[in-house]
Amino acid sequence: MRARYAPAAVALVSYLLLALIQQGEVYLGLMPQAASNQLTLVTLPGACIFFVLVRSGWSRRFAADPSLTLPQMLFAMAALTWSYAISGPARGAVLSLMILVILFGVFDLKPHVARRLSLAGFLMLALAMAWRAATSAQYDPRVELIHFVFAAVVMLATSSLAITVSRLRAKLAAQKKELKTALALNRELATRDALTGLLNRRAMVEVLAHEQSRVDRGAQAVSLALIDIDWFKRINDEHGHGVGDTVLQRFTVVLEDEMRASDALARWGGEEFLLLMPDADLDAANQAVGRMRNRMERENLSDISPALRLTFSAGVAQFVPDECFNATIDRADQALYRAKESGRNRVEMG
Ligand code: GH3
Ligand code: MG
Ligand code: MG
Repeated sequence: MRARYAPAAVALVSYLLLALIQQGEVYLGLMPQAASNQLTLVTLPGACIFFVLVRSGWSRRFAADPSLTLPQMLFAMAALTWSYAISGPARGAVLSLMILVILFGVFDLKPHVARRLSLAGFLMLALAMAWRAATSAQYDPRVELIHFVFAAVVMLATSSLAITVSRLRAKLAAQKKELKTALALNRELATRDALTGLLNRRAMVEVLAHEQSRVDRGAQAVSLALIDIDWFKRINDEHGHGVGDTVLQRFTVVLEDEMRASDALARWGGEEFLLLMPDADLDAANQAVGRMRNRMERENLSDISPALRLTFSAGVAQFVPDECFNATIDRADQALYRAKESGRNRVEMG
């Protein structure tokens, strides 16, 4: 927002300075008081209106140009042309101000707009030069010719500058996009498990802490399950590590298919997973994981290896207010241990 109205504030101050300088010219007898007053009576209220429109946020309705850059620049060019026409012998200095306005456009506008705008400024000046050379004795046609050539050179130079700046901006935009992609990938790598695409342990710890604070504040029941594949080492030993990896991926797909959209699943360790079930008490969690156990037991894995069977054991536990979630995980871990001890392919409650 501040960046949006800063140029309008700078413009307002510049018009004030311009009015002061004009007054100086009046004192020095270079310009009639009435002519100076007329111009100031247009530029100062105009600049104030622009400032208010931008500062109040009203100009935000113009999504393409919320800072009103284009109308402000046209206004400034018209004001400077007017100033050129009344400044008499001191008019040469006005040309430098026109350059300043055009430079603002180069950095703020699209290159083709900036180029058209500098052409517009040049044409305005050219008309003022021709008109004054024809009508005022103070405006020597030879001086106007030199001013005209000077203005033409400046306009061409700004056009090439506009192209350079736009190339630079395009390059910066591309770099920004690349950085954004790299950052997203980095975030993905930091929170996801590469093999299964599930949340990794670090990301899940954050989710758990968040859920724990919800429970502490009296949220509905939250439960978790520690799920460990049975005899996984055998699968690796009998079929190789590659098949083991594929089995882990399939295991993930099946669990994700069975769990609710609000549940969160993480790869907690090698062949151990942690399932978080918000809004599930111990019984509901036990039933949900029981359903998963049933599905896994019946899952056809012959595409991975003929006669391959996969089961898991699990321990479920419910969050308790003001208990650290590590303690909840411990209870689930003990329940998992009991499930393994009592023959595997079971779900125990902790
Ligand atoms: P239990 O029923 O008692 O859980 O027996 P288990 O064989 O599943 O358990 P154990 O902890 O003895 O073995 C787990 C195996 O999981 C050992 C390890 O090599 C394997 N493992 C861990 N991470 C990966 C992985 O990313 N890919 C593969 N292929 N194997 C893994
Ligand atoms: Mg295991
Ligand atoms: Mg294990």
